[in-house]
Amino acid sequence: MASTVQNQLLYGAQIWAGALRYEVNVSTLLGPQRQIALRVAMAYRTTVSTQAIMVVAGMIPVHLLAKERQKLYNHTKEGKEMNKQDHRVNTYKEWQKECDQAKKGRWTHRLIQDVEKWSTRGFGNTDYHLTQMITGHGCFGSYLYKYKKRLSPECVDCKAVEDSAEHTIFVCDRWWNKRRDLEAKIGGDFEVDSVIKLMLRSRSNWKAVKAFVGEVLRTKEEEERQAQREVLVEAVNH
Ligand SMILES: [Zn+2]
Repeated sequence: MASTVQNQLLYGAQIWAGALRYEVNVSTLLGPQRQIALRVAMAYRTTVSTQAIMVVAGMIPVHLLAKERQKLYNHTKEGKEMNKQDHRVNTYKEWQKECDQAKKGRWTHRLIQDVEKWSTRGFGNTDYHLTQMITGHGCFGSYLYKYKKRLSPECVDCKAVEDSAEHTIFVCDRWWNKRRDLEAKIGGDFEVDSVIKLMLRSRSNWKAVKAFVGEVLRTKEEEERQAQREVLVEAVNH
């Protein structure tokens, strides 16, 4: 489905790609692709920025694909030798530049530093929980606080002032022994700056990290549901 929609979006791109110098046209074009990326990444929290979700889904933004198509078309017209691979390498470079400069999605950028390596990995899919870790949008105190589902951004487990994806997954004391087990499995330190590199090293690393993140976030979600129920019961009783 993703590629069908993408092809429809790119229809005639060699002709209209010039219009992409206007930001409004870029956002119009990105809208439908964003919807697909949200599904591919299993991001049910649609608060994630387009920039970040395209990276998580490993989908080159369609405005960059349109420009690539136009360049290919022009090269062929000029009778130059067409090398699709070179064009694709350049497109990844353009995308990387956009990611490096983007104001939104900085947490995702800290984790996924190289969009080409991430997108062309050839194995390992993301799921609901892994996407929460990578976007920072999920069952974390600061996120729940921001969207008014909690009265405080603190960590309910260790009382740290702010519970974020970074705190829960990489820092919180509650999970330290599981984190040590994980490090033994993946053969390296489980840290923000290195976790994706380690995951891309092997299928088994990918699986191990995914399992850890899934277990932690499933537990937190279950406890959050329980806490919400208690709040509700209390409200009814008063
Ligand atoms: Zn904590």
